Order: sequence, then C-alpha cells, then structure tokens
Amino acid sequence: MLDKIHGHQTITEHLKKEILTGGVSHAYLFSGIDGVGKKKTALEFAKSLLCMSAENRPCGHCSVCSQIDHGNHPDVQVITPKQGETTIKIIQVREMVSGLSIKPYTGNQRMIIIDGADRLTPEAQNSLLKSLEEPLSYNLFVLLTSHPQTILNTIRSRCQSYYFHPLDNDLVAEILKEETDYDKEAIEEVLHQSGGSPGMGIYLLENSEIQVERKHYLRDLYSLLKGDELKVFSLAENLSKDKAMSEEILGFFIQWFYEVGLLLQGLELPGGEIPDQAHVAYLKLLSYEKNQAILKTLFDMMATLQYNVNLRLQWEKTFIKIMKTQKGYN
Ligand SMILES: [Zn+2]
Repeated sequence: MLDKIHGHQTITEHLKKEILTGGVSHAYLFSGIDGVGKKKTALEFAKSLLCMSAENRPCGHCSVCSQIDHGNHPDVQVITPKQGETTIKIIQVREMVSGLSIKPYTGNQRMIIIDGADRLTPEAQNSLLKSLEEPLSYNLFVLLTSHPQTILNTIRSRCQSYYFHPLDNDLVAEILKEETDYDKEAIEEVLHQSGGSPGMGIYLLENSEIQVERKHYLRDLYSLLKGDELKVFSLAENLSKDKAMSEEILGFFIQWFYEVGLLLQGLELPGGEIPDQAHVAYLKLLSYEKNQAILKTLFDMMATLQYNVNLRLQWEKTFIKIMKTQKGYN
C-alpha cells in the first residue's frame, strides 16, 4: 500500500495506518514544492481506499485502479484552474459542492483533490469551507499546495496537514532515470535546479530553454539589486510578454529567495544541493531581513496574479519595492 511513492515515508506510513485502522480524516492538506509527489500520493491514497481487490490494495489493475490512473473515476475528482485560467473560481467549487450529497458511485468513499488550493479565489475558499465544516462521512478532501500560507486559517485548521519535504538529489536522479528516457548527463544537468522535486526535474528536462531563461532573469535581478535601476523596466517589460512564463519565473524567484534565506540562516539547501556561484553572489548581497522582505514582496505579487492585473505595471511595482528594500528605504 502506497509503496509506489518515492520518499515521504513518514507520510505514507501514517496514511497506511489510518486506512488499516479505519481512521481516515475527512480533510487533508498536502503542502510542499511543486512536483515533489503530493498529487501522486493523493491518487495512490484514493486507490488504496477504493481498489476492488480483496488483498494487496491497491492492486493497480482492477477497473477502479485503472480508472483512477486514467483520471476518469467518477468518485475521484481533481479540481484545478480551468485551461487558460490562473485561479480556481467559485463556480467550480459550487459545481463540486452540488454533487457532494450524492452517495459515491462505486464504493463508500469519494475523494476530491484540489490541485493548487492556493489558487482558490477567496470566495471559492469560503464556499469550500462550508463543506469542510459539515462533512459527510463519505466525502474526503485532499488539498494540494506549494504555498500553504496563502490558504485561509479556517480551512487549514480543518485539515490534517502533511508537509512533503524536498527529496534528496540521489532519489530525484533515480526517479528521473526510471520515469524518463533522458541519459545520465542530461539528468545530472537539471538535478541541481530541481530543488529536490522530481516533477520539476522532468519539467526542466522537457523544457531545456527554461533553464537558460531562469539564469538570464536571475542575472538581471542581481544587477538590479546591485543598483542598476533601469533593470526595473526591462525586466518588467520582458516578464509581461507571456503570462505563463511570467508565473513560471515568479515561482522560480520565490524558490530562489527561499533557498537564499535558508543559506543566510546557515541551513542546507533542499535535497542537499550544493550552493552554486549565483547562490553565493546573492548571499553576499543580502541580509536575512532584506531577503525575507523580498520574498514577501514576491508572494504579494503572486497573490495579485489571480486578478486580471496589468502584468507590466505589477512587475514594475514589485521590482521597485525590491530595489527599495535592498537600498534600505523601507
Ligand atoms: Zn485495484
């Protein structure tokens, strides 16, 4: 049971115990960086609960297991932002809630996975809250997020929380070798930037141009922090050309300053990664307080993305604030 999950052993052991003793909660919050294994764990959890096999659940080949694998089991719903959208809107939550009172189709459990719970709009979070407050025994919620701090406290407090730690680089390498056709050199190349996330590793392998982009933006942001004020505008202009890319880079910046923050506290990087030249350069430039203030500014930027904002203006504001932080103006 749950043995297909790489790493995260403490969590899978807990879940296993809950399944075997009938002590499954009605709501879970799985947090951890993107691609670390939260969704995979949620789906294996669903299979373990719903599999039709008498023993060795999940069997992996009964109709329930294969429907879950193919994403078309009627009692396992995955809710994500609709295509082209960055947030999960209230209408999606309402639609889901309207089906909650119907008994599950195949077993005695229904699982609703909210993939990107931080992307629920405030209205959608409130709508979801009602279902969490008055749960029906057969409905089980699993909220997945890489930014748990943006989720309402009232929601968080109703969930059993599990934090998925970044995996060791060795384990990430092993997973990438198993799940992709890329050779050892290519895998080594992305391992460093994967930050302990196999999903990120696969993403980087499949989008090699992203790595070049990231390095480029990191260099420009460094120049800005060193005092090149014109970078405010050139960065904002480039980052407003494409919303998806803009979000990708923002996520990367957040991860980056999170890592620099760890180093500034004398802690290790996720996955035991060794700091590279860029880390060292940023480390020399920033104090812990300034770094955390920048991180906060980036999170604020992330929160505005769920609205229809003028990207270029928003990035300009963000970079101006970052520049001021670095200069000690606020
Ligand atoms: Zn099965």
